[in-house]
Amino acid sequence: MSERLCVIALGGNLGPVPQTFRRALEALSRAGFRIRRVSSFRVTKAVDCEPGAPDFLNAAVSGWWSGEALALLALCQRIEAENGRPRSHAYHVSRTLDLDLILFGDESIRTQRLFVPHPRAAERDFVMDPLREIEPDLVERVAGGRPPAPSASERRLS
Ligand code: ATP
Ligand code: CA
Ligand code: CA
Repeated sequence: MSERLCVIALGGNLGPVPQTFRRALEALSRAGFRIRRVSSFRVTKAVDCEPGAPDFLNAAVSGWWSGEALALLALCQRIEAENGRPRSHAYHVSRTLDLDLILFGDESIRTQRLFVPHPRAAERDFVMDPLREIEPDLVERVAGGRPPAPSASERRLS
């Protein structure tokens, strides 16, 4: 199978997150994700999280993957579990590690288990800023998943 350039967003706000990110990057690499670029680690305010949640650390990594998309998702979920994330986990709560698949080559995947480009990435600065830092040419591809802004004439009508 051909290699695809993929982007994974990293997030976390519990435990020693910089160390967790480094371990996650090593685990990705060991499993065959050929890392191209890693963004800086950025402190961001928690959004879509429980009240009073601690700040997050966010980053993005790009790299080549030659397997299936679902295998890359399974790898990300295994690495989350190995880094202290409980198997069953409420949606949008504090976590040690979150690995979201943002782009998988130029493929559009629309299943319940995996939706790529990640449907909420375009509206999240904590995803788009690190992505712009490492792969500016891919920003448009993520933003392209967003519905177009209304045209000036449509705005005048509403
Ligand atoms: P969000 O997706 O809004 O960032 P989250 O990361 O907190 O929320 P999780 O609880 O980590 O959500 O994941 C819920 C499910 O989302 C996963 O079990 C996975 O199957 C599914 N999923 C769908 N698309 C993706 C994707 N592109 N990357 C990672 N998981 C995805
Ligand atoms: Ca997420
Ligand atoms: Ca996730």
